[in-house]
Amino acid sequence: MALKEEIAKRRTFGIISHPDAGKTTLTEKLLLFGGAIQTAGAVKSNKIKMHARSDWMEIEKQRGISVATSVMGFNYNGKKINLLDTPGHQDFAEDTYRTLTAVDSVIMVIDCVKGVEIQTEKLMEVCRMRKTPVICFINKLDREGRDPYDLLDEIEEKLDIKVRPLSWPISMGKTFKGVYSLYNKTLHLFQPSKTKIEQDGEVIEDIKDPIIDKEVGESYANQLREDVELIEGVYPEFDVNEYLAGNVAPVFFGSAVNNFGVKELLDCFIELAPAPKPRETEERVIAPDENKFSGFIFKIHANMDPNHRNRIAFIRVCAGKFERGANYYHVRSDKKIRFSNVTAFMAQEKELVDEAWPGDIVGLYDTGNLKIGDTISEGEKGIYKGIPSFSPEIFKEVVNKDAMKTKQLEKGLNQLMEEGVAQLFSYELGARKVVGTVGALQFEVIQHRLKHEYGASCDFMSMNLYKACWISSKDKKKLNEFVDSKYRHIAKDKDGKLVFMAESRAWLTMVQDNFPDIEFHFTSEF
Ligand code: GDP
Repeated sequence: MALKEEIAKRRTFGIISHPDAGKTTLTEKLLLFGGAIQTAGAVKSNKIKMHARSDWMEIEKQRGISVATSVMGFNYNGKKINLLDTPGHQDFAEDTYRTLTAVDSVIMVIDCVKGVEIQTEKLMEVCRMRKTPVICFINKLDREGRDPYDLLDEIEEKLDIKVRPLSWPISMGKTFKGVYSLYNKTLHLFQPSKTKIEQDGEVIEDIKDPIIDKEVGESYANQLREDVELIEGVYPEFDVNEYLAGNVAPVFFGSAVNNFGVKELLDCFIELAPAPKPRETEERVIAPDENKFSGFIFKIHANMDPNHRNRIAFIRVCAGKFERGANYYHVRSDKKIRFSNVTAFMAQEKELVDEAWPGDIVGLYDTGNLKIGDTISEGEKGIYKGIPSFSPEIFKEVVNKDAMKTKQLEKGLNQLMEEGVAQLFSYELGARKVVGTVGALQFEVIQHRLKHEYGASCDFMSMNLYKACWISSKDKKKLNEFVDSKYRHIAKDKDGKLVFMAESRAWLTMVQDNFPDIEFHFTSEF
């Protein structure tokens, strides 16, 4: 049956890393294998082209940051691979969190010199929340990095996940010889190359084989034998189910810029990584091979063409076959909806598509009907779970600077929030509006876009807020009492959910102690 086959072929994943660990480089090399690009370097240059196309992105361009979360599809060894790009800059972390809701697994890149960095920790938290399977790629082995055992310990400790090396480096830095694959018992000798496609390694069934001595020298060969013995003794045998359950991360070593260890990573990835899995809606669990189509919007990209106020909504197909032009159901608005302009993302090319399968991401042209988190279906009424808002870290009050443009400001703010640029909290008291973001950059983006796209201008007034907590209680009366007693600190989010705006950690703790019947949540889904 076509549907089952298409599902089994698909691998939808994201690469996460702290900036500079090598995510872009690895992406580029992976695309080389897919034949998706001819020359390395295309990923970056495309990013710049994308920026030049739209005005408001000027801000990010100047800072050399990519805000665009794009999708790259390619075929490799009979698999259809969908790679979702995630912005590395921490100010756009919320965008990355949401993208992670649309993937089935993750490759995490770690710089062997720097080890686990702060952004990796935060992203891993999101993966853990969703039990996303993670493969770890330790990069830059051509540099003098930290001891591999220390790196593995650090990953286990800081990222709270067990690791299992599936390859092992033979020295590093200037004397880097290559890696030995514990998974398929092959030796890969290091040959720096920026553009060439890596060959298969040499199969070495027995680690005692003198061929290793010949290839890397006796002392490195003996060191490798010791390491392999130690690893096999210390780490339990690799269990793919433990990986799929998000409990164990297999680890590979390599050097992305030298295109070394990348093929091995990719080959193992397509074997191990999960095909699209069942997903939960508010009503039930939906298997990907159900015949009726359903999926959810996780990203909205606005004004690709500054002359038209159109947007592209990225939908992840979760079940059934998506067909262009079909009549679908928009769950939130309870209305029928049709998409005639649908794009798929095959590497750099955008192309019109007629159909898509579970695991695929397609772009829907939208004139303002869709919101992040929306479910589109062939009749299914439940909304897909798992696209929460996270409590922002920086809060500022919106001050309208042009009373004549109040309507424009309101419209602009609402639309930007629907795209997920930031979160808006509205206080009933004094009709104050507060924008919450993960990073400072978004305020500039918002100001710039409000001005250029909506002709509205506003200022942002700093506020002393620690967290926005979504509140709930089993006892409705108690919740009402709480809201009444704390009305100065109660706002509503975009969906009208109640939020407690806490000024400090200490105060929040105190309030939590004083109101034991109220539950405080740091994400909008609980
Ligand atoms: P991103 O911010 O995670 O996307 O990182 P990039 O892919 O842009 O890489 C950051 C820097 O590290 C660039 O200068 C790359 O050339 C460099 N880099 C990437 N991989 C390697 C590697 O294997 N070895 C070395 N020495 N440098 C690398």
